[in-house]
Amino acid sequence: MRSYPYSEAELRQQLCDIGRMMYERGFIGAADGNLAARIDDERLLVTPAAVLKGFMTPDMLVVTDLDGNALDGGRPSTEIKMHVALLQERPDISAALHAHPPYTVSFSLAGIPLSRCVIPEIVVTIGMVPTVPYATPGTKELPDSLREPIRKSDVLLLERHGIVTVADEIWNCFKLLDMVEHAAKITHLALQLGGAKVLDRDQVDKLVNSRYDLGVGQRSTIAEDLMARLACSQPLTRKPGP
Ligand SMILES: [Zn+2]
Repeated sequence: MRSYPYSEAELRQQLCDIGRMMYERGFIGAADGNLAARIDDERLLVTPAAVLKGFMTPDMLVVTDLDGNALDGGRPSTEIKMHVALLQERPDISAALHAHPPYTVSFSLAGIPLSRCVIPEIVVTIGMVPTVPYATPGTKELPDSLREPIRKSDVLLLERHGIVTVADEIWNCFKLLDMVEHAAKITHLALQLGGAKVLDRDQVDKLVNSRYDLGVGQRSTIAEDLMARLACSQPLTRKPGP
């Protein structure tokens, strides 16, 4: 049976704190981004539509049922169906986050995958960051496009759009976002200096094996080891166009 370590009041404060952090760290602009957390077996707490997430107060958050229908007369995020899909596909997680971190998104705009093994910490804790092909934001297309890939990874890069992270609690969703954007920033800076060398096969093998020692490699949610090993040796360059 699922446990709920936080009260609704605590969750309301956490979502406001994360919204402010995402805004202050430049991971969202204006009213971008949205957050969702399970309150209990029947209700979700979600960020409201068209509100600056850096300036929310706990009373502004919206309570919905598990299908994303408001239970308190509030207007939930326009991406509520995306959060519903993520939580439906991943009964093991209790929170989901969506943001538009600029370094991460710039890789997608340039057609450079973030699935190469460049930063050791990312290989160990996340594995690869898969990119989900473009789907129109705010439509049913988007949640449907995430259902299958979110079963295999806690972090997804949405092509030309943003990032999705899922975790056991909203602070850990933020942690994943912060890690990926920091890695994307370092990689971006390295590319300005002439290139970001990928780790070689042997280095990736050792990192992947260390995940098991650290206990982060036991879950199916980590991107597949084999793919990480295959991708590691490919250079960090733009994908050839059609
Ligand atoms: Zn978005």
